[in-house]
Amino acid sequence: MARTVFRNANVIGYTGRQDLEIVDGVLVRIAPTLPGTEGTDLKGRVVSPRFVDSHMHLDKAMVPCDEDPCGLLEAIRRSMTYFDAIPADRLVENITQRSDRLIQMALRAGTGTIKTNLTIGGALGWASMESLCLLRERYRRTMRLLSAVPCEVGEEEEFDRRVKAGQIDFIAGYPSLARDFRRELDRIFALALKYDLPIDLHVDESDQPNIDCFLYLLEKTIQTGLSGRVTCGHLTALSAPGLSEDEVKRAIELAVRAEVSVTTLTSCNLYLMSDARRDPTCVKRLMEAGVPVSIASDNARDPLRPYGNADLLQEALLTAQVHKLAGENQLTQVFRMITENPAANCLISDYGLREGCRADFVLLDAQSPAQAILRGGGVLLRYADGSLLETEQPF
Ligand SMILES: [Zn+2]
Repeated sequence: MARTVFRNANVIGYTGRQDLEIVDGVLVRIAPTLPGTEGTDLKGRVVSPRFVDSHMHLDKAMVPCDEDPCGLLEAIRRSMTYFDAIPADRLVENITQRSDRLIQMALRAGTGTIKTNLTIGGALGWASMESLCLLRERYRRTMRLLSAVPCEVGEEEEFDRRVKAGQIDFIAGYPSLARDFRRELDRIFALALKYDLPIDLHVDESDQPNIDCFLYLLEKTIQTGLSGRVTCGHLTALSAPGLSEDEVKRAIELAVRAEVSVTTLTSCNLYLMSDARRDPTCVKRLMEAGVPVSIASDNARDPLRPYGNADLLQEALLTAQVHKLAGENQLTQVFRMITENPAANCLISDYGLREGCRADFVLLDAQSPAQAILRGGGVLLRYADGSLLETEQPF
């Protein structure tokens, strides 16, 4: 029997210091004082369920990028040019190798779940999904890998087959890039109802103060009864200069009614939109109104963003700075944006530390969630599925 005891931990979800007992990989007890004196004194350090990165693009990770920033559409084109040059029979291997590096970085940074958006069709075909299937097997015990997949026109049959094979977890989509966003949203919502799948969209990444797409999406969510199953990514138009105060207020009220969640991709938006005078979505206002906001990495070291370490504490600190969120209370809410909020948008029902669950958590070198964000990078230990995780050095 393997037994480990930790004492005096600040366990997320519990009040006051707690002791933890792990027996054969199972967290058998969490209590203020366990009998005996053995174990490691954590001196009030934070023990948190592993982080959830609810919006990444593993298939584009580490695609080489030029030095000059170029905006969203050109960056997508450059990524696709890279894929076009790879022989079809090498694509899966190529995607898997690059994705693997990012997953290793995420593991080291304390992440336990990644929801990745897949690019489907064209030269890529379904290579990204083939790669994800391999990675799911490779990381079966250490990283939960969820997929958000668009049903591209012409790929409906294959999409159907992949849904039935259990490979697709979320319907993805880019409605504001479509010729007619209403028709595109109608199609996406119809698919969600047909397959009983939740939705995770790139709503807009626009500099224009036009939130018609977002408003239509909210109406569709209410009409179709899909409240609680729709996540809105980016949503940068909501903070575009030129939108009236009243329009923003009404949109946020409708978002609360529709029970959607929002994912902000701060780093990527700051990079891709650097030439325009604008901000990522209005995190503070959404948060204050009660819309659950998540922070995620989006692209990493590719033409859409040449930076990124798959490190959610870094992303959280940047987001806090951009939106001027400070102090214990607000930073605690920011910590929820990389833990329980994305766990909810990923529909993870067993998230959190409870007696009887497998030991799956990180030990942080901080005494509060707020301090963990301010200090950054302080992941001391990682447990995954009951085992202490050894991770490689970052690249
Ligand atoms: Zn994205």
